[in-house]
Amino acid sequence: MSSDLSIPSSIRRFVTGESPAMLIDGAHVPAVSGETFETLNPATGELLAHLPAADTPDVDRAVAAARRAFEDGPWATMKPFDRQRIMMRFADLVEANHEDLAILDTLDMGAPIQRMRGNLRRAVGMARFYAGLTTALRGETIANSIPGDFQTQTLREPVGVVGAIIPWNNPHIAFIWKVGAAIAAGCTVVLKPAEEASLSALWLGEMLLEAGLPNGVVNVVTGFGETAGAALSAHPGVDKIAFTGSTATGQAIVRAASSTLKRVTLELGGKSPNIVFKDADLDLAVPGAAMAAFINSGQVCSAGTRLFVERDIYDDFVSAMSAYSQSLTVGNGLDATTQLGPLVSQTQLERVTSYFAIGRAEGAAVSSGGERLVEGDFASGYYVAPTIFTDVHNEMRVATEEIFGPVVSVMAFDDYESVVRLANASPFGLGGGVWTNDLNKANRTVKALRTGTVWVNCYGQMDPAVPFGGYRMSGYGREGGVQHLDEFLETKAVWIQTH
Ligand code: NAP
Ligand code: MG
Repeated sequence: MSSDLSIPSSIRRFVTGESPAMLIDGAHVPAVSGETFETLNPATGELLAHLPAADTPDVDRAVAAARRAFEDGPWATMKPFDRQRIMMRFADLVEANHEDLAILDTLDMGAPIQRMRGNLRRAVGMARFYAGLTTALRGETIANSIPGDFQTQTLREPVGVVGAIIPWNNPHIAFIWKVGAAIAAGCTVVLKPAEEASLSALWLGEMLLEAGLPNGVVNVVTGFGETAGAALSAHPGVDKIAFTGSTATGQAIVRAASSTLKRVTLELGGKSPNIVFKDADLDLAVPGAAMAAFINSGQVCSAGTRLFVERDIYDDFVSAMSAYSQSLTVGNGLDATTQLGPLVSQTQLERVTSYFAIGRAEGAAVSSGGERLVEGDFASGYYVAPTIFTDVHNEMRVATEEIFGPVVSVMAFDDYESVVRLANASPFGLGGGVWTNDLNKANRTVKALRTGTVWVNCYGQMDPAVPFGGYRMSGYGREGGVQHLDEFLETKAVWIQTH
C-alpha cells in the first residue's frame, strides 16, 4: 500500500506535528487554557498535529469578534459588488490551492485523493455561486389594501452572527458550503470544524483573510463538540446555528438553542432507500447501487444504505454487486488507485465493525465483506471491507440505524406499493434512488418518496445550484440553491405613508 504523493510545502505546517493556531479576529491564537488535542492520519494512525482545544472562553472571544465585525465592521453594510470581489478572490485561491487542499483532507480524514480532487468543480463552483448571489439579494414591493396611501416593501437583512458546526466527512466542501452562504448574506461566522478534520478549515479561514475578508467576519475555533460546539449552540451572542452532523447532535443543538430561540438549520443523518426495479439497466445499477453505499467508505449522509431489489432479479443482482464490491481497491487515500480509504477514526472503526456483529446476530447473511482489514499495512489504519448484508428485514438494526461505514442492507421486494411503503418506513428522509427504464414508474416513485433528494438512474450527484436537505429526522432547511441564502436572512416589512 504505497502513497504516491509527497507532502506539498503549503500544507507541511498542518501535518508535521506542529500546532497550528485557531483564527479569531484575523489573528492566530492558541486556546485560552493552552490545552490541545491530537489529530491523526486514519490511514496510518500517525499524529498529524496538536490543535487548540477551544472551550467557552474561546467561543466567547470568537463570538465577540464576529459580533463586532457584524455591527461595526464593514461587512454587513459593504456594497454587494465589493463583497463579491472578495469572495471571488477566495474562489480563485481555492482553485489555485485545490490539489493541496485535497491532499490535506485526505491526510486528515482518509478519503481517496481521487475523490478529494473530484471536489474541485464543486468547491470552486460553490465559492463562485455564493459570490454571485451577493448581487442577487432583493426584497419586494407589495400592493396592500388598507385605506389611504401606504407603500409596503420588504428588506432582506443578514440574521447576524452565525455559529457553523460541520462534520469531518467532506471537510473543505462543508466549510465552503456553510461559510459561503452565510457571508454572501452579510452574516459573520464562528465555525467549529469536526475534531477529526479541522485542518483544511484553518487554511480556508486564512484564504478568506488573504482574499480581503475583514477581520472577525469568519473565525475558526477548533475543539470538541461537547465543549466548544455546545458553548456555541447555547451562546446568547449567536443569532443562528447552521449545523451538519448526526441526528442525535442535531437534537442536542436544538435543545441548547432553545434558551435563546436562535434560528437553526440542520443537515442530519439518513438511511436512504435505493430501489432497483427489474427493468433497470443493470450495467448501470449494479455499480451505481454499490457506490451509492460505499463511496467515501460509506461516510456520506445521503448514502443509499437500504437497497431494495425486485425479487425476480434479486439473486443475480446480489452476485453481481458482490463481485463488483470485491473488485474495489481499498487502501491509503494518498494512493491514486485507491477507491475506498480507511474509516475516519478508531471510534468509527469500532462502530462500524460492531454492526457486522449486530447484523449477523439479527440473522442477516453476509454476501461480501463483513470484516476489518488487518493484513500488512492495513493493521495500523482503520480499514474495513465493503460489506453487503442480504436476507435483511426493514426492521433490523442494520436497516434502521445509520452505520456511516461501507455497509449496505439488501432486501427483496415484490411490487411497487410494498417497496414504496418499505422505503418510507424510516424516521429519516435525506436521499433516495430509483433505477428503472420506465419513465412513468420513475416519476411515480420520485413523488412517493418522502426524502429531500431523489436520484433516478444515478446516485449522489451534487451541484451548488441544487438544494439539498432532509425531510423528517434528517433535518430542516436547505443548503445549496438560490434559496440557501434565505436561511441567513431576516425579512423586514416596511410601511411608508405617502402624501
Ligand atoms: P457529530 O458527532 O454530530 O458531529 C458533527 C459536528 O458536531 C462536529 O463538529 C462535532 O464536534 C459537533 N458536536 C458534537 N457534539 C456536539 C454538541 N453537543 N453540541 C454542538 N456540537 C457538537 O457527527 P459526526 O460523527 O462528526 O458526523 C457523522 C454524522 O453526520 C453522520 O450521522 C452523518 O449522517 C451526518 N452528516 C450529515 C450530513 C448532511 O448533510 N445531512 C453531512 C455529513 C454528515 P466533534 O467533532 O468534536 O464531535
Ligand atoms: Mg484527523
